[in-house]
Amino acid sequence: MLVLVSGAMTSPLYSLRLRASRSGQHLCGAERIVPIHQLRQVSAELLDRALAVQPLPDEIHSTTEELKPQEIHLSSLPHIRSWQVCGAAAGRQLACRLLVAGGVSQLAAKRALSSLVDGPAPGGKVMRGAMIIDAESGERLEADWSRGVRVSRMDFSPACRDDLISALADEGLSHHRIAEALVLAGKVLHAPGIVAELCWSDDPSYLTGYVSTPTAGYQRISPLKEAGDSLGGRALFVDRRQWSLAEFVDFLERKPVLFDSLASVHPLQTWNEPC
Ligand code: AMP
Repeated sequence: MLVLVSGAMTSPLYSLRLRASRSGQHLCGAERIVPIHQLRQVSAELLDRALAVQPLPDEIHSTTEELKPQEIHLSSLPHIRSWQVCGAAAGRQLACRLLVAGGVSQLAAKRALSSLVDGPAPGGKVMRGAMIIDAESGERLEADWSRGVRVSRMDFSPACRDDLISALADEGLSHHRIAEALVLAGKVLHAPGIVAELCWSDDPSYLTGYVSTPTAGYQRISPLKEAGDSLGGRALFVDRRQWSLAEFVDFLERKPVLFDSLASVHPLQTWNEPC
């Protein structure tokens, strides 16, 4: 459930976003929502991250923007489950089952999985954002197949950030990618008309992906791709019967959401389907 912050924040909050590229190719992006007194330090941390990527970026864009308190929503992070599978093929089979259990048709799940395997952007490349997929027909609905929709303006609440990060670390979820993906997936689960999300990274060394749905929560699957594979992406499945593209994109790209508590974290499970 989303709850309006409505004046509970004493210090103004800022959305801080940074993206780095070389020769027009996106290299990395990162963002936070922070109180004014942390702007300098967190900007430097994001810049350090952009300067640590290879090849070095030739352009770095940073945006800092005050958020209106009356537009900020609070929520809790989704339930978290983790699945170990014997290989990427089994991982994708499990992903397909979880998507279907969440209300996505088999056809749409398979279409999305194939797009991510083949590279969802034109020319078999990686997109900058996410695909939007009709959960029934599997049709792609995003206007731009290279950019897709970029989920933005979400973070842990400043008051709870350290506690939530250490609570996740206690459960073995300490990789910075996990926290960032969880916050992004958490926001997606509140989007009007959302049915499910499927994601795996384009980082050739990060093999864990996830499926999330409003009822089952965030389900990590490891591995969901082969080592060395530099393709990946995100698919957001929607129910078009109760959905407007403009409203969906506006929520994901513009409405600020802060997470201030954890839902349940379940122990690692093994999925024993043969590879
Ligand atoms: P990552 O998990 O950062 O490796 O991202 C995996 C894929 O998700 C990328 O290749 C993009 O297609 C997509 N993606 C990354 N960041 C976002 C975002 N903020 N909103 C929507 N999609 C994203």
